[in-house]
Amino acid sequence: MNVPEKEEYVRALTRNFAAALHIREPSVRFVKISASPNYDPLRNRIELGYAILTLPSLIVRVTIAHEVGHATQRKALLLDLAADGLCKMLIIAVPWIVYGWTARDKPWDIVISATAFVLAYGTYICTARAARTKQAIALEVKADEIAAILCGSHSTLRALETLSTFSLIRPERLEAFRARLAQERST
Ligand SMILES: [Zn+2]
Repeated sequence: MNVPEKEEYVRALTRNFAAALHIREPSVRFVKISASPNYDPLRNRIELGYAILTLPSLIVRVTIAHEVGHATQRKALLLDLAADGLCKMLIIAVPWIVYGWTARDKPWDIVISATAFVLAYGTYICTARAARTKQAIALEVKADEIAAILCGSHSTLRALETLSTFSLIRPERLEAFRARLAQERST
């Protein structure tokens, strides 16, 4: 297959997986060669580096199934983006509103607002980011589960194991997937 044929193959896979999951088909955009696969919930678009076209078909199938899995999470991802944007806006706006209300030309008024900003931003860094990382891993694991539904558990495991040797995926994903398979076998 030449490159346009491979691109069409990836688009057809995306179409078929989206139809199997009864969701709106995400568009596919090829970007620079080394970019990691990524799902953009704002545009409902999967972005892939051209390098994916050089990988074995099993890896391509599981990768596309995983990204289409993210498309099933579109609402959650959009809510997450909105909540994060609102949080950042409040961190910047609230200290200035406090400053506007309390400023009486005293030099420490700006210090109070600046301190409030630093405290709020510090709290955001420490808590919100950790929570978002945890949420992101949970969504990755869920997308792998959808890949397993579309491609089969063993194919998905083989693909994840191969990708993990290149450090292309979070180790937590592989651990979670192995644990899920072990649980399936024991029931
Ligand atoms: Zn993912």
